[in-house]
Amino acid sequence: MLTEFGPRVDSPAGISSIDCSTSWQQQLKEAVRSVPELLRLVNLSQDPIASRVDESPHFPLRVPLSYIRRMTPGDANDPLLLQVLPLSVERQPAQGYIDDPLQEQHHNPVPGLVHKYPGRALLITTQACAVHCRYCFRQHFPYADNRLTARQWQPALDYLRQRPDIHEIILSGGDPLSLDNKALSELITALEQIPHLTTLRLHSRTPIVLPARVDEGLVALLTQTRLKTVLVLHANHAREIDKELHPALTALRTSGTVLLNQAVFLKGINDQVDTLTELSHALFDQGVLPYYLHVLDPVARAAHFDTADDKARLIWQQLQSRLPGYLLPRLVREVPGDDHKRWINEA
Ligand code: SF4
Repeated sequence: MLTEFGPRVDSPAGISSIDCSTSWQQQLKEAVRSVPELLRLVNLSQDPIASRVDESPHFPLRVPLSYIRRMTPGDANDPLLLQVLPLSVERQPAQGYIDDPLQEQHHNPVPGLVHKYPGRALLITTQACAVHCRYCFRQHFPYADNRLTARQWQPALDYLRQRPDIHEIILSGGDPLSLDNKALSELITALEQIPHLTTLRLHSRTPIVLPARVDEGLVALLTQTRLKTVLVLHANHAREIDKELHPALTALRTSGTVLLNQAVFLKGINDQVDTLTELSHALFDQGVLPYYLHVLDPVARAAHFDTADDKARLIWQQLQSRLPGYLLPRLVREVPGDDHKRWINEA
């Protein structure tokens, strides 16, 4: 049965039986957009956390049922829930936390394109994401001015054509896998015609939160393109990587795509050495290598997720003694004006 907010699940205990076998488009349509509905699904309507939520957040709630299904009913500290649940603390102003912490709007030569680093550029393909993460550094990005339809990609494509020094194009957003395969195919075909482009990188959290998005059409696109393909996933906790992801990630690997993961170091979610150790192992079990562990960008409304760099460094050093080098993500901070991410592993 559908409600205004998606399929109704009458018993909170029933979240484990939610049907996630429908198409990804249908599942996206049914994503939960109401805070009370989310609380009800995870059996927290009567929990003290219900008095701390923000029912009309600036960055609206959006979370697919396939992700909710991995939460633990009755656990107000569930690390998946806390990544998506809007809390009233977001409204408290915090000094130094701003709308555009990476100053991307200063590196926006044509609509839809961010060119900050040599050799690579980033295309904002869509404003949509399958999930809205409360700590997102792009939650205030003026997507309305940068939202491109297929025909409007032309200025960005022209810019890329005139810049032979750019070899890698990064599809980002929002989340590029919010685009359907037809739109992605048109875009990839246009990019393939730019001879100096060699690598297509996608930054996407969608396969983690909505594994059904990895359908045959997407795998075919990645398999058939002449460009080398890299998919940088975004998982922050081992509990996000359950057996439902296995077929999706296996299919992506068979397309020849290099699979990496970037995580954000988040207070109350993964700021423990055990948690991050488990994450690296869970990723490797699925053929994904940990790539970056970002400290939080100081974005407005997300200060409650932040930790001091010293704490992140300490946890990372403990992680270093536990993991082989290939499972150790680089601890990085993005600093506006730098031409690369800054490694902050060492003091
Ligand atoms: S999926 Fe990525 S871009 Fe989208 S809200 Fe989450 S962090 Fe932001």
